[in-house]
Amino acid sequence: MTSNSPAASRSSTAVQNLDPSDWAAFRAQGHAMLDDMCDHIEGLTTGPVWRAQPTAAKARFEADLPLEPTDLAACHEIFKANVLPYGGGNAHPGFMGWVQGAGTPVGMLAEMLSAGLNANLGGRDHMPIAVERQVVRWTREMFGFPPQATGLFVTGASQANFLAVLIARQRALGPSARNAGVAASGVQLTAYASSAAHGCIARALDMAGLGVDCLRRIAVDQDHRMDLAALRAAIAQDRGAGFTPFLIVGTAGTVDVGAIDDLHGLADIAADQDLSFHVDGALGALAVLSKDLAPRVAGIERCDTLAFDFHKWGQVPYDAGFLLVRDGALHRQTFASDAAYLSRAQRGMAAGDWWPCDYGPDLSRGFRALKTWFTLKTYGANALGASMARNCALAQRLAAGIAAEPELTLAAPVALNIVCFHYGDGRFDPRIVADLQEAGVVAPSLTHIDGRSAIRSAIVNHRTRPSDVDALVVETLKFGRVASREVVEVTPA
Ligand SMILES: *Cc1c(COP(=O)(O)O)cnc(C)c1O
Repeated sequence: MTSNSPAASRSSTAVQNLDPSDWAAFRAQGHAMLDDMCDHIEGLTTGPVWRAQPTAAKARFEADLPLEPTDLAACHEIFKANVLPYGGGNAHPGFMGWVQGAGTPVGMLAEMLSAGLNANLGGRDHMPIAVERQVVRWTREMFGFPPQATGLFVTGASQANFLAVLIARQRALGPSARNAGVAASGVQLTAYASSAAHGCIARALDMAGLGVDCLRRIAVDQDHRMDLAALRAAIAQDRGAGFTPFLIVGTAGTVDVGAIDDLHGLADIAADQDLSFHVDGALGALAVLSKDLAPRVAGIERCDTLAFDFHKWGQVPYDAGFLLVRDGALHRQTFASDAAYLSRAQRGMAAGDWWPCDYGPDLSRGFRALKTWFTLKTYGANALGASMARNCALAQRLAAGIAAEPELTLAAPVALNIVCFHYGDGRFDPRIVADLQEAGVVAPSLTHIDGRSAIRSAIVNHRTRPSDVDALVVETLKFGRVASREVVEVTPA
């Protein structure tokens, strides 16, 4: 241990806390760490999208609990050598694997400010709460929601979808279900989503105590949108059989192909049938920020609850999911409790009329609002919308590139920013995807469409360039030809 290490300095002074005793040295180290991350982001294209983690790097993180201190600079070196080069790849312009955002340097700095402040956004009277309220207000504006609508940052859309199910359950069963439980209601609730809905919808119904089986998975049409006639028929059939339909879940951007349900059509059926209408907009909701893309999600402004992710197309660093609720009073009824330690004061630190802990399950909450505020404020909503429109233009460029190659075929229509395709008869798609990921130039993922595997390119990253989608075509052909040649060679004539 060097003499100027934090631990050594700590033991030699009377100050007993975890702050640095040598702030000048700490600052210098902090600046070096910041420079290093800027170098990393600026130089992303010089490295591969992804590389497998070496055994030695993994072993670094199978160590015993450290009882004694290690110098901060030494810890940073461990990070630089063993973590930084082996990330998931989603910040790299060649990443097209899954629906993941890339983050921004601005978001990184905002995260540092949040951590420095160490605010707890469960409630009480402090300015960070006003920042979250500001973002809630902006989301109301984005989606044309009324002033009484409420909103809340959560980890991600999985959590936001879950809370939306609880709110719809509250509307259907009334306040008594919170005390007596779902079973006491004697009602068998049923919910409706397309067969292409994300897996977290079924999980949300499970976690809400309603059971996965209460979800009716409605067939989709050739554009992968929910079949409205089939939806109406399923609701009627359930009513006839004694069930109580309570919720329709539309999807704005399915995770497999980026399809957008007919949201106006779903809103009409929900209104006609007096059901809650929720939209899972994890991927596509923020398309409202682009004038060109907004018409594709028309009707989203009519939903009762909306789940979406600032950490996907909004490029805010993980995690930053969001739930927007039209009926703020119902939202509060679903979660508020009257614990003594949460009692409100007229003045002082326990004042304030909007406590996020009344609107979701979390009491201690981080300051996700700050990185989102910085992202929206520094770039402006138009720039985020333009970035999404560029992604969709790249998806069209890729679709055209695929159409131009006889060995490649599109596996689904391109509604947004996701392109699914096959090489040849699709036999080699799994192998090609693994080869592409390991080569690290461009990294798509494998999905399954109509029971067949397909290569999926989800273009969510603001850094992705035309050369990256062109490289995907070239590299797919290269690996596809190698795979088919090898099979020909080992197959006896
Ligand atoms: C990503 C995604 C989810 C899950 O969101 P998380 O933020 O990962 O929890 C749900 N639905 C769709 C359509 C998605 O794309």
